[in-house]
Amino acid sequence: MPEDLSEKLLTHYVEGMWVAPLATRTFPVVNPATEEEEGRIVLGGAADVDRAVDAAVRALPGFSAWPKADRLALLRRILAVSERRLSDLACAITRDMGAPATMSLGMQADVAVGHLQGIIAALEAQPEREELANGDILVREPVGVCALITPWNWPINQITLKVLPAIAAGCTSVLKPSEFTPLSSIVYMEILDDAGVPPGVVNMIQGDGAETGAALVAHPDVDMVSFTGSTRAGRLITKSAADGIKRVTLELGGKSPNLVFADCGDQLEERVRYAVRECFLNTGQSCDAPTRMLVEESVYPRVVEIATEAARATRLGDPAEEGDHLGPLVSDIQWGRVQGHIEAGIAEGARLTCGGPGKPEGFEKGYWCRPTVFADVRPGMSIEREEIFGPVLSILPFRDEAEAIRIANDTDYGLAAYVQTGDRDRAERLARALRAGAVHVNGAGMQYGSPFGGMKQSGNGREGGVHGLAEFQELKTLHIGGF
Ligand code: NAD
Repeated sequence: MPEDLSEKLLTHYVEGMWVAPLATRTFPVVNPATEEEEGRIVLGGAADVDRAVDAAVRALPGFSAWPKADRLALLRRILAVSERRLSDLACAITRDMGAPATMSLGMQADVAVGHLQGIIAALEAQPEREELANGDILVREPVGVCALITPWNWPINQITLKVLPAIAAGCTSVLKPSEFTPLSSIVYMEILDDAGVPPGVVNMIQGDGAETGAALVAHPDVDMVSFTGSTRAGRLITKSAADGIKRVTLELGGKSPNLVFADCGDQLEERVRYAVRECFLNTGQSCDAPTRMLVEESVYPRVVEIATEAARATRLGDPAEEGDHLGPLVSDIQWGRVQGHIEAGIAEGARLTCGGPGKPEGFEKGYWCRPTVFADVRPGMSIEREEIFGPVLSILPFRDEAEAIRIANDTDYGLAAYVQTGDRDRAERLARALRAGAVHVNGAGMQYGSPFGGMKQSGNGREGGVHGLAEFQELKTLHIGGF
């Protein structure tokens, strides 16, 4: 690890400086591929939270008055520095959470540029002053001081989707990244610092959820909480923020269905292979992963065969090496959770066609998990309902379109849905019928600048582009008369 990064691990970033934390509790930074401790962070306490929020409060009057042109110029400087530091970000993500090098650079770090371009375009396009048909005038103002709390699975994706629109809107913020991925958050603060983000506009404290995160959410000077993480924590945060009537946006878990129809014809094999890749991407640690594959009865046996074969061919490997292999899970806790789900699937009578519990041969050190496929999963089984957050695919048959929609929508979640079909009309009909924030048809992926977010217990609010920017803004209506 570069020396300055390991020194910064023990600090927090407040008012443009790397400062010694006031608290003393520490937490290990563990390389998930080797289980080696790479350093420790200091978990912020209430006094650290107060200091960071105070910095954001002091910076707000000045920064919120910045003209749009100046905020755009700042975002463009961040873009230039981000482009230069992409490989540093990728290395940090790989060490933090074990994403393999090629994927770290091409997907995990790349978002630092992609999302920023989406936010810049959104701010450029947004009118500063709108005259309504009734003569009233509409203006936008920053919400104020924002608490930004992020998870470990796509660490820079979540940080950029919060920090950047906050800056674009003229808000000031305190970021609390996941305690499992501090390295990438430090590199990102260096990027903001190099780009000339003024002191206090973005502050960062390291810490856990129960103490640091909870204190930040409850702080009376925080106006808005933007949270990405588990539905469990989202619920607690919503309740805590309710006392101060704070604005809360939540990006939570998912159990996304993927509907595979026989009419894929000769595309069937390619579509199923794509679906397995998407499910296992990032070692299954993506909130919008297509983890429930619903398959039309007539092609069900063939699809189980293709998916099993694709899972068996999935390679695991050293995250530091380039390639399309999978890395380990992020932590021993996550490894234990995923094992529990796999064991529950077996106990409930689903048919294991690939993988299973335990570590794969040759990968005894590190949090490695076997790519796993369950067939003959029935609606209501825990592996059909609960988010696993590991490389585990559940396959279920359906009779017709109506049953497919019913099973797909029978979930607490509503983040994403996927459809594989050769019928254009069916694609659009299903995309509308599925209760999810995004529907991907035949492999079409996420685009920078489009809104991302969920329905039901997958959260509320949207991130990215113009809709993500709007979350950090207040609308003010001016009724002006007498002239
Ligand atoms: P988590 O909820 O345990 O932690 C997420 C963040 O919240 C961490 O920074 C943690 O320290 C903090 N936190 C935890 N409890 C808190 C509390 N009571 N008050 C304040 N902060 C608290 O989740 P995780 O295990 O880090 O991440 C995995 C989860 O995140 C999965 O459920 C996944 O689906 C979800 N996720 C959702 C999206 C999305 O956009 N919808 C994206 C990525 C991850």
